[in-house]
Amino acid sequence: MNDETIRLEDTKVTDLVLPFQIDALDVRGRITRLGPTLSEVLSAHAYPATVAQVLAEALALASLLGSVLREDGGQMTLQAKSNGPISLMVADYLAPGAVRGYAQFDPEAVKGIEPGASLETLFGEGYLALTVDKTLKTERYQGIVSLQGNSLAEAASEYFQNSEQLPSLVKLAVRHDGLTGEWFAGGMLIQHLPHGEVGSTRHFAAEDQHPNWQHATLLANTLRPEELTDPTLTLETVLWRLFHQDEPRVYDSIGIHRGCRCTRERIQSVLRQFSFEDLMQMREADGSIRVNCAFCSKDWIFERPQEKD
Ligand SMILES: [Zn+2]
Repeated sequence: MNDETIRLEDTKVTDLVLPFQIDALDVRGRITRLGPTLSEVLSAHAYPATVAQVLAEALALASLLGSVLREDGGQMTLQAKSNGPISLMVADYLAPGAVRGYAQFDPEAVKGIEPGASLETLFGEGYLALTVDKTLKTERYQGIVSLQGNSLAEAASEYFQNSEQLPSLVKLAVRHDGLTGEWFAGGMLIQHLPHGEVGSTRHFAAEDQHPNWQHATLLANTLRPEELTDPTLTLETVLWRLFHQDEPRVYDSIGIHRGCRCTRERIQSVLRQFSFEDLMQMREADGSIRVNCAFCSKDWIFERPQEKD
């Protein structure tokens, strides 16, 4: 793989995840860039830049993490809950490749906060829950990490370190084009999977002291945020710039698109859980019930409450 062999016009540069492996360093990883899909998700809401930016990071993270789920219906949900200016943020991924997200926040409290502020400033005290449903049938797995540190990328690295016991590094970046209004977000995850050491004496005091891993993180830390979000660079080029000496191998990419799962039937089944009296309370002046999907902002209108069987 080298720069010259990649023809830009043939290669998708946004809304995809590209898995890769660097055998020489025992590293596997994934890199992503979101473009039109991200703009589409965010355009359903009129979020201030501070909220849009962290939600964009969360969507890039959900794409990175969710794209390991290859079976249709596999689902990865990232949920931040806290007592701070942003009280709730949800980003989720449904295989293959559908992402959606939304946030709840206090508009007054968010006003004075710059985009890219620390997690404490954005969220106050809270936690980030990562829930994985591998398929619709299998059991779910949930991991939790506190919303501390400078960024979502740091919190995610921490989560991996704890849950998978693997040295992991997550990078996230967001760019908003003030002229066109377009949003871009990018992310990269690398993990160290040393082989040949299983069951034998560990040569290094801590997993993350391994020279291969130190070398990989040194290179990964030279990644500039604008490389992740620049739609004129292919993701292959970004990887090549970082790791060309160690010859990264890339796998088939996974396309990402906006996908909400609200349907009339699904919302109806939620409404059925309310008592008839509650439903009567929800009526608009014209007798209809209006349900707004938090993810895509679509209004679902039900002409009149149906009496329970
Ligand atoms: Zn929806």
